[in-house]
Amino acid sequence: MKNKSVNSQNIFVSEEEKTINWPDLQAEFKKNFGEEIYSSWLKNITLIKEYNDYLVLGVPTRFFRDWIVSRYLDKILELIRNFKLSLNRIEFKIIEEQKNNKSEEFKIDEFNKISEIKDSILNYNRLNPNLNFNNFIKGSSNEVALSYSKKVCEHTSRYNPLYIYGGVGLGKTHLLNAIGLELQSTNEVMFISAERFMYHFIKSIKKNDMVNFKDFFRKSSVFIIDDIQFIRGKESLQEEFFHTFNTLLEKGSQIVISADRPPMKLDRVQERIKSRLSGGLIIDIDIPDLELKKNIINNRIDHIQSRFKEHINISEDVINFIATEAKTNIRELIGVLNRVIAFGRVHKRVLNIADCKSILKDVFSQAKIVTVDKIQNAVSNYFNISLNDMLSQRRSRPLARPRQIAMFLAKKLTSRSLPEIGRRFANRDHTTVIHAVKTISRISEKDEEMRKNINQLRSLLLEN
Ligand code: ADP
Ligand code: MG
Repeated sequence: MKNKSVNSQNIFVSEEEKTINWPDLQAEFKKNFGEEIYSSWLKNITLIKEYNDYLVLGVPTRFFRDWIVSRYLDKILELIRNFKLSLNRIEFKIIEEQKNNKSEEFKIDEFNKISEIKDSILNYNRLNPNLNFNNFIKGSSNEVALSYSKKVCEHTSRYNPLYIYGGVGLGKTHLLNAIGLELQSTNEVMFISAERFMYHFIKSIKKNDMVNFKDFFRKSSVFIIDDIQFIRGKESLQEEFFHTFNTLLEKGSQIVISADRPPMKLDRVQERIKSRLSGGLIIDIDIPDLELKKNIINNRIDHIQSRFKEHINISEDVINFIATEAKTNIRELIGVLNRVIAFGRVHKRVLNIADCKSILKDVFSQAKIVTVDKIQNAVSNYFNISLNDMLSQRRSRPLARPRQIAMFLAKKLTSRSLPEIGRRFANRDHTTVIHAVKTISRISEKDEEMRKNINQLRSLLLEN
């Protein structure tokens, strides 16, 4: 594939494969995501190049890309698939050129820049040197995960597989990458996302090259696979994954896995895989507390200051504000901080909270629209029950608990009144809602599992 220079006005589409009409798709995005999300985010995406099974889309900044990827990517993929069945992946390219040479924070980093799209598997197996143990900040939500990630590096195959799970932007990829960096000098390290694994799998089938594929993935002594939840519902991929997994375990390779949920909650994944995934050590990363968020912010500021010999003037109040507003997602926290720093540079003054509020208005207002519908859907999905069952009058525990959890979250995360919430749950009385809220509050005080479920659901809802 020839390399072409790209800007947001140009749209290159390979003629022979062309199936996508971008304006049509944009109209679809608008219809499905609503005017607000569309005009703040999706409108700015351009189609750069269309391949048989993937697309390269252009976005203006890294922040933009991260935002879109963490929130809208699944749905975007789904919508584009309506136009193009063979699609299995989207790549983003950051189009805006470097404006401020001073800080790498705003530079297009090499890892995310696609100047050339190669077929080589090696091309995707790169570790990012910036995601290491040294700059991973410890907090109460991640210290267990951090400590076992380090232990795995000291004694490979002791905890095998190591399975780390948690919500979006909490540091899973960072930790996996750090493990890879630590071990790469003494091991054959393979680091790949489940999505890329599938991409190579499909390509190898098409090219009739499965032998190479198998050799390639099975020769590693450390196999790190990110976002394993991607294999849900993909039978043949699971089959291949299972065999790769067994071969590696048999020969004593260390396996490290990340996911957005624990193994047993991976619906539409074969039981034998779930049980393999559960065979080692399972650890979660929780939502960061205020202290960790502030430490991460301060650390980033120090890093920029010492690296670029630049004084960043940002008040304790503003740091507090950012840390409080960016509720759960560390990626978002860093994105927001970068924006604030950039704004301060441009305007050459110390920012106050009112400035921050106006800079970040669109960001935070997007993140917070939680509706009763969304809650009901998220909860029924999470517990793997149908929405109808959850709303039904049946009282069995496996339905009643999720129902109560959904009512609890509706009370906590929306501004709906108790009677309104009751009505949305198949016309129940407001006293039922009160009872649900009390029950779930009481259980979560004592029961760790319940607390975790609620936290995970909360972060799912606040992120999406
Ligand atoms: P996940 O894979 O869980 O979605 P990432 O590992 O991509 O999350 O983390 C998102 C961003 O937050 C990355 O830039 C990462 O470096 C940063 N990050 C997450 N946790 C920490 C931490 N404890 N210390 C420093 N940076 C962190
Ligand atoms: Mg990740």
